[in-house]
Amino acid sequence: MKIGLEVHVALPTKTKLFCSCKTYVEEPNTSICPICMGMPGSKPKLNKEALKIGLSVSEALHCKIKSRIGFVRKVYFYPDLPKSYQISQLYDPVGYNGYVDLGSKRINIRRVQLEEDPARIYREDDYTLLDFNRSGTPLLEIVTEPDIQSEEELRGFYAELRSILYYLGIDIDKEMKADLNISLSDSRVEIKNVTGIKNLVDAARYEIKRQSALIEKGEEPRVETRSYLPERMTTERTREKETDEEYGYIFEPDLTFYSTTNVEKIEPVYASAIAKEYAEKYGASEKTLLELIAYDRNAMELLETSAHRHGMQSIISALETLKKFKVQMDPEKFEKVIALVEANAALDAERINIIAKGGEVKIGKGISEKEIEEDIEKFIAKNPGIVEEANRNPKSINAIVGKVAKETGANAKVVAELVSKRLGIKP
Ligand SMILES: [Zn+2]
Repeated sequence: MKIGLEVHVALPTKTKLFCSCKTYVEEPNTSICPICMGMPGSKPKLNKEALKIGLSVSEALHCKIKSRIGFVRKVYFYPDLPKSYQISQLYDPVGYNGYVDLGSKRINIRRVQLEEDPARIYREDDYTLLDFNRSGTPLLEIVTEPDIQSEEELRGFYAELRSILYYLGIDIDKEMKADLNISLSDSRVEIKNVTGIKNLVDAARYEIKRQSALIEKGEEPRVETRSYLPERMTTERTREKETDEEYGYIFEPDLTFYSTTNVEKIEPVYASAIAKEYAEKYGASEKTLLELIAYDRNAMELLETSAHRHGMQSIISALETLKKFKVQMDPEKFEKVIALVEANAALDAERINIIAKGGEVKIGKGISEKEIEEDIEKFIAKNPGIVEEANRNPKSINAIVGKVAKETGANAKVVAELVSKRLGIKP
């Protein structure tokens, strides 16, 4: 089995790729000019910020970068593209021959290229309408070699790529989509425009099953383009697949070559490498750390500033609390959350928000585990049937946990662990 991906992301530039119109303007057709509408005689000019981000992504993916890059016209007709070509890259892209390492497995990157988005087509009543605000928005296409060989590798690669892009300032939640190329035999089937890791894995799983069934029957899967239907978790045929030869690529004469040598690039951050490093150095689960920092710059900063001062378990609990309540804060305030964790105090949304706003919360002298244990004993003495009940139905310990946590103001997680220990039940 061979899987390759073409991932498309929109770049976070204030203006479009080849003109100075603003990007992401809501009111249709208000951010347009002769260049992004493709009028004859208009001359495109490259957005330097898009070049900088494109080269930064290429460098972060360990790509080779030529001393100059150039553009081509990808010629095809569609109503969203009135000039009948999309400005893209082919021979001199921003990056080529890169890779992403997933542990011992290397997924090679064929190329990284800049291109413009066409206009948006949408329907209203009986009309088909065009919004040119989107026309000319900078996109980056990242193409892998067909090196992905399992669902786990697909998931791992996409998560790693998303994390790298996130740290380069790209909005991965809004605009990221992928085309999946899957072949179990000689025929390559492409599934277009899949968004999100879950859909990507589901689409691959369905397509592998579909192609395997055909091959088992002695049939060769057709070379074609399909689309993924998330609500039915299946793919359906949309058209015969085009090959690069079918697009008339020609050199873009309006854009000259651009030098890459003096472009300042954004420093890459590899959350997976940092999670590994901290897990080994301070003793913690690499997976847990990565889940906390992969797409969260604030959590990354808090981990880095607190790791040498506190136990990793306290830091993880404090970070999990911030994630749960979707709260961000600076390292100084984070110290107060860790203090709550270390005092076994309750970690509720109200207290965390007070800290985030710069307020103080009382920890008092803190509650020791011994005190919590004493309260548990008192509760059991008052409710003698509870031990037997808990053995019959382990869920009933939630009642004890809730009561003791409320009375002592202690952290419910800590109370739950102690109650389970006392009653000999696995939490
Ligand atoms: Zn424009």
